[in-house]
Formats: sequence, C-alpha cells, structure tokens
Amino acid sequence: MARFRLRRRAQSSDRGERLGDPDGALQLLFAANPLPMWVYDLETLRFVEVNDAAIAQYGYTRDSFLSMLITDIFPTAECPHGRRAVSERKEALWKSGTWRHRRADGSFFDVEINSQLLVWAGRPAALVVAHDVTETRRLQAELTRQALFDEATGFASVALFADRVRAALAGWRHEDRQVGVIAIGLGALDIVASTAGDEAADAMVKATADRLRACCGAQETLARLGGGRFAILREARDEHAILALAGTILRALGEPVEVSGWGHLGCNAAVGVALASREAMNAASLVRDAGSAMRHAAERGGREFIVFNAELRRRALDDFETEQALGAAARLGQLHLCHQPVVDLAGGGVIACEALLRWERPGLGLVGPERFIPLAERSGLIVELGAWVIEHAIAEAAAWRERARVQPKVGINLSAHQLRDVDLVERFSSACAESGLQPSFVCVELTESALVANDDYSAYKILTALREMGIEVAIDDFGTGYSALSYLDHLPIDVVKIDRGFVAGLGVGQVDRLLVDAVIKVAHALDLRVVAEGVETELQLNALRELGCDAAQGYLLARPTIDAELPTALRQACEAVAY
Ligand code: C2E
Ligand code: CA
Ligand code: CA
Repeated sequence: MARFRLRRRAQSSDRGERLGDPDGALQLLFAANPLPMWVYDLETLRFVEVNDAAIAQYGYTRDSFLSMLITDIFPTAECPHGRRAVSERKEALWKSGTWRHRRADGSFFDVEINSQLLVWAGRPAALVVAHDVTETRRLQAELTRQALFDEATGFASVALFADRVRAALAGWRHEDRQVGVIAIGLGALDIVASTAGDEAADAMVKATADRLRACCGAQETLARLGGGRFAILREARDEHAILALAGTILRALGEPVEVSGWGHLGCNAAVGVALASREAMNAASLVRDAGSAMRHAAERGGREFIVFNAELRRRALDDFETEQALGAAARLGQLHLCHQPVVDLAGGGVIACEALLRWERPGLGLVGPERFIPLAERSGLIVELGAWVIEHAIAEAAAWRERARVQPKVGINLSAHQLRDVDLVERFSSACAESGLQPSFVCVELTESALVANDDYSAYKILTALREMGIEVAIDDFGTGYSALSYLDHLPIDVVKIDRGFVAGLGVGQVDRLLVDAVIKVAHALDLRVVAEGVETELQLNALRELGCDAAQGYLLARPTIDAELPTALRQACEAVAY
C-alpha cells in the first residue's frame, strides 16, 4: 500500500524536479531503496520526506514521520528536546557518523549515517541514508571479547595480559612499587588429555582457574596463555607480597582436583615468578622470564616456586643460542653418531650397537646429547634431528657388514615427539630401502615416559607398524618411569633395557638385586629379552649372568666409539664377556 502510494507520488509530484531529477529516476531510487532514507529541513529540523525502508525500520507511519523533528528519533539523554538544544546541535546533526536511534516502540539501535546537503523546495535540507549497524557492532564486540578473554576460564587472553603488563610497567618506572608476573604450568594436563580425554583436561583447567581466582583479589589480572599455562600480574608495594602470592598458589594447586568420572587427579603444577627490573622492563620479556622460571621449577620437580634471576637469564640466552646453532648443525656437518656395543651374555657376541648422537659444536668440542636433546625436545627440533639420526644410523649400520664383517642390530633412540611425526614409519622404511639394511637389524628404543606422553592408541599403532616391518622395539631406561611391570604385557615390545641406576646397585645391596631379578623373570615370562645398561664392574656383570640377564651394555664392555674404531670396540666387547 505504502509502496504504491510512494510510487504514484514519485511519478505525479514535482519533487523529481526539486531533486534536479526531471524523469524521476533518483526519486525512484530514494523511494524503493532498501536502506532507510529521509530528507529533513536544516532550519526547522523537520522530516520532509521518508522512504518505505525508513518506515519499516523505525516503525513510525509516514504521517508521524512528517510531523516529527529529526531529534525525535534520538535517545532523550543524547539530544534533549527544545529549540535551544536543537539549534546548538544543528551543525553536528547533518554530519555523517554513527548514531543511536529510537524506534516507534521505544527500542534503540545503532546506525551509521551518511548525510548530503541539498536544496529541497527552495530550502536548505539534508538527505540522510541510515545503515543499521547493530548486528555488525554486536559481532565486533563479540570478536573483541573473544580476542581479549579466554572462553573456558574467563581469564584475560595473551593479548590483553600483555597490554595490562605493559600498562603496569609504564607506571612502574615512576612509582615506588613492584610489578611481578607469576607463571603457572600444569605438567599433568597433556597426560590427562591423552589418557582421560579432552573433557577431563578441560575440567582440570577450569578447576585450576577456580583455585587461582580464589587466591587472588580484585587487583590481579589473571590470564590463560594457552593449554595448561596461566599467568598472573600482581602489583604490590614490594616483592614480598608477590612472592607470598606465588607460595599461596603453589600450595593451592598442590591439592589434587576433582575431575568428574576420574576422581581426584594431581595437576603437577609448577610456578615461576619474574619481577620487573632494569633488565626486564618490557612486558614481553617479563612474561617470557616468568615462563622460563616456571619451566625451571618444573624441571626441579615443581615442589618450590622459582624466581627468575641472572643465572636463569644466562641459561635462557644460552638455550636460545644453542637452539639456533643446533638448527643448523646437521646442514653444517656437525652431527656424528657414536656406537656402543650390546653384548650377548650367553654367546659372547655383539648383538647390537646403540647409536648415540654427538654434536661437534665449534668452540665447544664434542657435546653430549644430555646437553641438547632436552632442548631439541622442548623446541620441537627433535623431529628434524631424529630424522637425521634415523637416516644416518641405518646407512652406517648397513656399511658395518663390509667394514667390520659383522652385522649387529642398530639401536636408535626415539623421543616422545617423534611418535607424533606422521612420516616416522616412512622414514624407517625408506632409510632401509636406500641403504639395503634389513629392517630386522633395526631396534628402536623408547622410554616409558615417551610412551605415556603420547596417547596410548597412536603410540601403539606406530610401534605395531614398525614391528610389522620387522623392526624391534625396546623399552629404554626401564625402572625410572612409571615402571609398572604389568605395563610390559600391554605394549608391542621385544626388549627391556634395565636402567643403569639399578645395575649400579647390583652387588651392593639386596633391593636392586631383587628388583632386577623380578624384571628379568617377568620379562622372560612375557617372552621379552632383557638388556642391562651401564655395566661398569665385573661384580655387576657376574650378578647379571647369575640372574639370567640376556645381554649387557656399559663402559666395562665398551665405551661409545666413533665409527672408525668400531671394529676394535666390537672385538674388545666380546673379549670382556668371555669366560
Ligand atoms: P640412553 O639411551 O640411556 O643411552 C645410554 C647412555 O648411557 C649413553 O649416554 C651412554 O654413553 C651412557 N653409558 C653407557 N654405558 C655407560 C656406563 O657404563 N656408565 C655410565 N655412567 N654411562 C654409560 P649418552 O650418549 O650421553 O646419551 C645420553 C642419552 O641421550 C641417551 O640415554 C638417550 O636418551 C639420549 N640420546 C642419545 N642419542 C640420541 C638420539 O639420537 N635421539 C634421541 N632422541 N635421544 C638420544
Ligand atoms: Ca637408549
Ligand atoms: Ca637407557
């Protein structure tokens, strides 16, 4: 009805001429436009024309519109009625921008206004196009909220936290107070996620968030930095208040949290603190330093919180440099493999050689894996490094037959991360295919913790795939990790390597002998072979023989040697076990 009336009016009136639009095309564009549009008199502020879209959007009839002032659609608080207020705001009124408008039913919505001045019936007027931006604004607000807050906990996001720390540090330079960041990491979260599932992990995160909230007051900013990592910004008169809070948090997280369906689970929290200092004056370094202190606390068992200091700063810098250099080490030909023989205690032959990685670091000489493998694991570099080891260890083992006229198996150590490498199985099969080494001459070594750090099923699948190729699987450092003997029954493995910590106790006390005895008995019952690691004395060797251990490895038999000396090492190792 309204549409018909407008169209008729558009054709029959002289308004087309007033718009400088003799054939009415612009008038039609106005009338039928899906965007609300109107014209109002700049002097009286009265609406003099509105289109259908404006009527539909605002809910006033055409007649009401034409009896209203432009200010009637503004919220009362923003634009008080009365001629004085109107005239004062006149100039601002026709400007383009974002406004809040009122509908006939009293509800409000946000509009973006585009205004053009024009002459209407000989009087100055403004043509207005109104764009409803309520939904856009709501979405923007939602996106902002998501960018600023973590959904699961309601804590600040990384971005918001960095902003708050920046603001606190900006003030700190001039005031007599201390700024600290407390970093919290849940060591158990990954294991909970892989064993009990994501829902249980989420429940642990939420329970931790509740505890952290209970430890803090209104003045702290709590943030979730991702996964099981949290941070708290605390400003105080002096550092004691900040350290006291770190202690409170450590105690609060020391109690297991209840996860429905799983009972009480320990979250294995580690806490680190970084205090603003002349060296840590920017937000990024303060947050990073707190994280380094937290990781250091985790390495030390997490029983105490650690405050970042100059020594840790030096170590963090060292780690950074090491990581950079290690990334280039393979390309620069600085990586080498040493081999250590594993000797059969019954037959006396060398049945395997374990490949042990060495890094010839310029200026530092030969660096052992203990110095760089943990770092490579933390940074993820281990996958690349591990790939180099697989390729070279297999190629070198293939060459033994010609050079040493023997073919022991090659033992290759794998880290937890490598079990998540989708190309892992393929790396082994192509290295074997290229070198001509039978996969049955390869044995991978994995610690229990590496297996636990991955979800059981994927570790199981990968180990099964490797064994189907003919590759043997050994559990390394047995006894140091979770060490449930029943565990041995569930895993697709062939060999158990008893950790040298237990071997060291052989011939000294009764406990270690009983333990080694038990491991050997269970392993044999499950048809697994047992290798004792770190054999250093004749006493240990004899004890292992008596207990029926299958094979041994250690300095007494041979030290890890470089490839050129391997034939000699193999001979010596065999002689060492000869009766
Ligand atoms: P591991 O797998 O337990 O390797 C045995 C370690 O014990 C070697 O240290 C070896 O030199 C040392 N060892 C052997 N016999 C004796 C002994 O009689 N007494 C004592 N005290 N120690 C002995 P290394 O070469 O320093 O390697 C340390 C660890 O680094 C290895 O422990 C292994 O976990 C890791 N590693 C070495 N190479 C690689 C690699 O290519 N990849 C991965 N992921 N880890 C590696
Ligand atoms: Ca090993
Ligand atoms: Ca070992």
